[in-house]
Amino acid sequence: MPKKKGVPLIFERSVPGRRGYRLPKLDVPEVPVDELIPAEHLREKPAELPEVSEVEVMRHYTQLSRLNHGVDVGFYPLGSCTMKYNPRVNEDVAALPGLSTIHPYQPESSVQGALELMYNLGQHLAEISGLAAATLQPAAGAHGELTGLLVIKAYHKQRGEEHRTEIIIPDSAHGTNPASVAMVGYDVVEVPSDERGGVDVEALKRAVGPKTAGLMLTNPNTLGLFDENICDITAMVRQAGGLLYYDGANANAILGIVRPGDMGFDIVHYNLHKTFSTPHGGGGPGSGPIVVTEELAPFLPGPVVAKEGDRFFFTQPEKSIGRVQAFYGNFSVLVKAYAYILSHGSAGLREVSEVAVLNANYMMRRLQDVYYLPYDRACKHEFVLSGKWQKQYGVRTLDIAKRLLDYGVHAPTVYFPLNVEEALMIEPTETEPKSAIDEFIEAMRQIAQEAKEDPEQLKKAPQLTPVGRLDEAKAARRPVLRWQKTE
Ligand SMILES: *Cc1c(COP(=O)(O)O)cnc(C)c1O
Repeated sequence: MPKKKGVPLIFERSVPGRRGYRLPKLDVPEVPVDELIPAEHLREKPAELPEVSEVEVMRHYTQLSRLNHGVDVGFYPLGSCTMKYNPRVNEDVAALPGLSTIHPYQPESSVQGALELMYNLGQHLAEISGLAAATLQPAAGAHGELTGLLVIKAYHKQRGEEHRTEIIIPDSAHGTNPASVAMVGYDVVEVPSDERGGVDVEALKRAVGPKTAGLMLTNPNTLGLFDENICDITAMVRQAGGLLYYDGANANAILGIVRPGDMGFDIVHYNLHKTFSTPHGGGGPGSGPIVVTEELAPFLPGPVVAKEGDRFFFTQPEKSIGRVQAFYGNFSVLVKAYAYILSHGSAGLREVSEVAVLNANYMMRRLQDVYYLPYDRACKHEFVLSGKWQKQYGVRTLDIAKRLLDYGVHAPTVYFPLNVEEALMIEPTETEPKSAIDEFIEAMRQIAQEAKEDPEQLKKAPQLTPVGRLDEAKAARRPVLRWQKTE
């Protein structure tokens, strides 16, 4: 077990006269600042900047970084988030000057390589999804959802079917789905899950009707289960005149194995910052491209990259819903995802999914005798356990999650999906070696033992982290997000 981290951090390190820079001798005539800048733009008092040496700055930030958990530090099985390792080759490619120092206002002829990269990435995502055309603009998964729903709205409007105002969503959906639906002004119609964890097809039959604008679905769903009735489900909605939206944020289980287009979907969003290994959380901006059918391509946000002969250029789709993001999306993220796709190739991407699914099933089977497994069937890239057996000892899922921090791993997603009591949603990803997976299994088994023998220990966890158990209500309502100088 790791030792308690956390040298108490001292934020106030400024000492008058200390400095971390040295400027060369001035080799131009010195001009007083008030001759250069009008007086009304000058501050009255000098700024209070910290006076610190270089090594102090370095130590301060390095220590801060060590108080945090990240995938470069340890296991991070946060379900529905795909916290896979971010290969460094992606970073090397994104840092190439020809890609990192260009500007969106440069003439197209001088950035043909960047345009080609965006064009090819769109093509790859189309191939992976079994659909036709992509926009790379959305900056996150939820942003992709919003974009896709705006496309659905524009499509129905053009057909004079504005009476379609309902989007059907299963109860296991990611929280962003209903939020995005509400943002475009549609109504959410929720359908329950059946006893196998899939969409309750009878309930769906009752929900589908003339007001149906579409269905949003994640498959495999947030329980990590593949819906066996998927083709019936999509056919039912299509027959009623609705469109089908696939939430592909976590496509980690299906790359090169099955395509949303073949399941009957019209629109997919991918989270490049999950499935395609670009950093997320505090590590970098996100990217949530959407891919659509040929029929919906004219509605995509513009501009999109097109190709004629050897030349790449921007063009506006004919019935475009307009921009959803400044310029062309988070370009450096696109570069990293492109590097990931090319470095794996199609066989490699398929292997990503095979190993992700294998790891999840191995872990699930090795834990199901100590934690309740609500849906006992083969899972895909993640699985959901329940802490309800531990409840008899007064131990809640939150306590299990907090205790895991003492074992040096990030906790899984907890209390989600909502349709499982005391849920623990675990996603190991394919990038973990077996040793890390076995260590996690061992930690979870020990915690199950502790729950029986020493539940108080779990209530007090975590004890080995820089800070102990936080008051979560206060942390949410009165967060302290920056250091402030106390006089
Ligand atoms: C992560 C996730 C989203 C949202 O993605 P963001 O980039 O966080 O907006 C949507 N759906 C599912 C299933 C997800 O896992």
